[in-house]
Amino acid sequence: MSEAEAPRRLHPGQRIVLASHNKGKLVEFQALLAGSGIEIVSAADLALPEPEETADSFEGNAAIKALAASEATGLPALSDDSGFCVSALNGRPGVYSARWAGPGGDMMHAMQRVHDEMGAHEDRSAAFVAVLCLAWPDGTTRFVEGRCSGQVCWPPRGDKGHGYDPIFVPEGERRSFAELSADEKNATSHRGRALARFLESCVAP
Ligand code: IMP
Repeated sequence: MSEAEAPRRLHPGQRIVLASHNKGKLVEFQALLAGSGIEIVSAADLALPEPEETADSFEGNAAIKALAASEATGLPALSDDSGFCVSALNGRPGVYSARWAGPGGDMMHAMQRVHDEMGAHEDRSAAFVAVLCLAWPDGTTRFVEGRCSGQVCWPPRGDKGHGYDPIFVPEGERRSFAELSADEKNATSHRGRALARFLESCVAP
């Protein structure tokens, strides 16, 4: 492959913007990239506006966020978009995972809706999906995806984690995501897998 065709990678000393106003994500990404020499600043610190996530796919929404942040700052921008996809519900709530919690962000309401809509459906399989997008100021984008498959459980179990964690048991486990420690969850989670792929393919070794 010639140099012109080689995928562009982030190098030590590079400053990038995290296209998210979520403090938890900033801490997670900073920890992951610690040691790579890449400096992350958040969209919130730069007072960037939060674009509306109007796409109907994780890729589409991740691209909207990363491209907006890159265009506004002239820096490479990293975004992520994720959700909970239930087979019996044809992949829903998917990109609407946060919205199923309503304006007050009531996750019990969202989990109850999953349970009610699944009814007695035999197929209890589900997956968490995370898509990361790295956008460069010239409009070039790179995507990596991470997926964690498992089963929906009911009633909700565990008090760790967030979102739909209490009703998801990952493959090879008997405990729900909300019963695992943060390190145990990160080792197999959709976001952990996507971040590992991001390091492999987008960051210079
Ligand atoms: P976003 O990518 O931050 O917009 O997250 C979308 C929604 O998906 C969140 O609000 C959660 O409801 C759900 N979600 C994403 N990742 C997880 C996870 O690791 N555990 C539980 N719920 C998650």
